[in-house]
Amino acid sequence: MDNTLSIILKKNRDFSVKRFHPWIFSGAIQQINGSPGSGDLVKVFSQNGEFLAKGHYQQGSIAVRIITFEDVPIDQNFWRKKIGAALTLRESTGLINNPFTDCFRLFHAEGDGIPGLIIDVYKNVAVLQPHNKGIYQVRQEISAAIEEVMSGSIDAIFHKNPSGNELGPEGFIFGNTNEQIIIRENNCRFSVNIKTGQKTGFFLDQRWNRELLSNYACDKNVLNTFCYTGGFSVYALKGGATFVTSIDSSDQAVKMVSENIELNFQGNSRHREITGNAVQFLGNLSQEFNLIVLDPPAFAKQLSARHNAIQAYKRINYEAIKSISKGGIIFTFSCSQVIDREMFRGAVLSAAIEAGRSVRILHHLSQPEDHPVNIFHPEGEYLKGLVLFVE
Ligand code: SAH
Repeated sequence: MDNTLSIILKKNRDFSVKRFHPWIFSGAIQQINGSPGSGDLVKVFSQNGEFLAKGHYQQGSIAVRIITFEDVPIDQNFWRKKIGAALTLRESTGLINNPFTDCFRLFHAEGDGIPGLIIDVYKNVAVLQPHNKGIYQVRQEISAAIEEVMSGSIDAIFHKNPSGNELGPEGFIFGNTNEQIIIRENNCRFSVNIKTGQKTGFFLDQRWNRELLSNYACDKNVLNTFCYTGGFSVYALKGGATFVTSIDSSDQAVKMVSENIELNFQGNSRHREITGNAVQFLGNLSQEFNLIVLDPPAFAKQLSARHNAIQAYKRINYEAIKSISKGGIIFTFSCSQVIDREMFRGAVLSAAIEAGRSVRILHHLSQPEDHPVNIFHPEGEYLKGLVLFVE
């Protein structure tokens, strides 16, 4: 590390770092020494020269993403320890060598202490997804650390870009296997394509919410909107749904829904898939469904999009609440980080008021244990869900 790359914070602007919040906003910076480029490692000091942290620099509102609050070298040993600690957490939650589930998130960015680092494991393959240039630049070191920590259980590591991001070419950085992998989640089977799939291939964050849905699905006519590759649909059929309709705008995802239904229930005729706009579809419902899943993509990726996103959540929830049959159940989610639990609940409340129906909350849902939330970084609690009972 170039010791000249450093950031001095303004007076009284070091309290959030001292409370282990992992972001430094540009407004808190007094002085930047040594012209760091995007992704460069910088040291952070208080006004009176006290060492506070090391992190990756980037121009923008979040200027530094902290990777350690200790003055330690960022070398192979550092990455091995970080990934080793993440693995220990998964071991203690029973996700390693689990007889029913062979896919999990091994590393969840700030939740495991490194902003921008995502590692998902699909059976014997790890998918490494760097979300900023700092992490991208050390992907080889991180890959070597994964290999070491996961030795014996991983045959390959695939480097994957977040969509719309220009962080380098995708491909295997260790080993080489088929890009299509059959995984098991709570004993349901899914085909995951780590190359062409969204995110790292599968939405691992809905594992327990899907399981909960299967408890509600018996004898229900289910509508799964924004279904992607049919996670909730497979669990609904497992739970005894009479019929499931799955809709997504991605043709590729919808093709995989049928594949996944076939994998679990050969020759099943209690399912239909539709490629189309779920928002429009929800606007034209009759009262045929009695279990509806609303799991849209993040409607707001930035603060500036928050208002429109709240309107969009309100709209889809309004349509579902208005048209679900009497005594129906709605599983409704938001995965927008900039919309917190209260705002989301507010949007669902406005939807219920407008629909003029009696609505009760049965469950408050969140993300699973392999997507931990750092208590000093509440923004990490991105997945919010409610289960509603509509009279
Ligand atoms: N519930 C899914 C994950 C949903 S991710 C699971 O459990 O795996 C959000 C999905 O919404 C993506 O598959 C995306 O293709 C789809 N999508 C985005 N906009 C849409 C729209 N207007 N209508 C239907 N699907 C849409």
